Amino acid sequence: MSRRPGRQFFANPGPTNIPESVLRAVGHPAVDFNDPEFLEIYEYCIAGLKRVLKTKQDVFMYVASGHGSWEGTLVNLFSPGDTLLMLETGYFSENWAEMAKRHGLEVQTVSADWRHGVDIAAVRQALAADKGHVIKGVCAVHNETATGLLLPLEEVRAAMDATGHPALLLSDTISSLGSMDFRMDEWGIDAVVGGSQKGLMLPTGFSFTGVSAKALAANAAAKLPRGYFDWTPMQSRRHKSFIGTVPVNLFFGLRESLRLIELEGLEQVFVRHARLGEAVRRAVQVWAGNDGPQLFCTNPGRVSNSVTAVLMPEGKNADAVRATALERFNVSLGGGLGPLNGKVFRIGHLGDLNEPMVLGTLATVEMCLKINQVPHGAGGVDAAMEYLAAA
Ligand code: PLP
Repeated sequence: MSRRPGRQFFANPGPTNIPESVLRAVGHPAVDFNDPEFLEIYEYCIAGLKRVLKTKQDVFMYVASGHGSWEGTLVNLFSPGDTLLMLETGYFSENWAEMAKRHGLEVQTVSADWRHGVDIAAVRQALAADKGHVIKGVCAVHNETATGLLLPLEEVRAAMDATGHPALLLSDTISSLGSMDFRMDEWGIDAVVGGSQKGLMLPTGFSFTGVSAKALAANAAAKLPRGYFDWTPMQSRRHKSFIGTVPVNLFFGLRESLRLIELEGLEQVFVRHARLGEAVRRAVQVWAGNDGPQLFCTNPGRVSNSVTAVLMPEGKNADAVRATALERFNVSLGGGLGPLNGKVFRIGHLGDLNEPMVLGTLATVEMCLKINQVPHGAGGVDAAMEYLAAA
C-alpha cells in the first residue's frame, strides 16, 4: 500500500469521522464493568443517550452493529407468523424486511419510488384496509442511507392514529440519530433502532433499541426464539442491557461524544447538519446542469441532512469517480447499494464535520468529474461556498 499523505477526508455515511477526543477516550485502560466508578459513567451515558433519543422510556443495548438491533427488535416483539408493514424506502428497508422473513414473519410492503419516498396516503390506506388488525408492527427507516431520503415519522404516526391502528411503530434511526431531529416519545415510536457509528461519532460496536411501555407489554407475549438479544434477562441485570461483557471502552467514548454533542447543543447539531447538507445539495444541483450528475432525491420535502446520494448520468460509472477520489486525493465517498451500485455515489455529511471538510470533499468530487469526463455544470463548489458564506 502506498502512502497517502495528509488527512483522509472521510465522506462516508457510516462509519463516520471519530473526533480525536473520542478516540483518546476509547483508548482507556480496561476496567471491571461492575466497578462502581464505571457504573456511574454507564448511568450517565444511558441518561445522555435517552436525551438524544428524546425519550424517558427504556433502552436495551447489545454488542452488535445496527443489524443486531434490527434483529433484537424483531425477536423481542413478535411471534412466528405475525405480519409487519414495511414502508419501502430503499436498500435498508428491503434488508430489514428480508431479515423479518427469515425469522418467519410475514411482510406486507407499502411500495415507493426510491427517489420520491413513500406516499403517506398509501400508508394510511394500507392501515385502514387492515380491518382485522393483522398487522402487528409498522417498520419505518427514518433516514434511508442508501438514497438520502428522510421519512417523516410524525406523519406515519398520524396515519396510524387517524386509522386507529394498534400496531407497534418501529423506527430505524441509524443514520439520523444525532444528525437530524428524532423524537421517540413525542412521535409515539414504540421501538427505535440505533447504532454507535454514525451521528454518535463512535467506533462501530454497539447498537440499541429504545422501547416504549407498549412494546414492553408486547415483549412479554412475543414468542420468536431469542438468546443474546432477549430483553427479559437484561431487565434483571445490573446494566439492564448486554448479555455478557459490557464494551467499557465504547462507554468512555460515548461519555465524550455526549459531552461534545451537549457542548455544541443538540439542536445546534441539527442546524449544522442542515446547513452542510444544503451546501452539498446546492453543489450537486449546479453539477446537474443539462446532463450531469443529479440529486437522487427528487422530493425537496424529503431530503436528508446526513447523506446525499448523487445519480450519475447514463453510461457513467459512479465507482470510477469514487476510485479517483480515493486513489488520487485520499477522499473516501460512499458507494451505491443494491440496485444503485455503480449508478450512485454518496456523500456522507454527518457527525464530526465542518464547512472546510465539506468544501474539500465537494472540490474533490468536482475534480474527479472532470478527470472522468463526466459532463457537469461548472461552479458547484462556488455555489456551496456562496451558500455557506451567507448562511
Ligand atoms: N439501517 C440503516 C439506515 C443503515 O444506514 C445501516 C447501515 O449503514 C443499517 C441499518 C445497518 O447497520 P449496521 O451496518 O450498523 O449493521
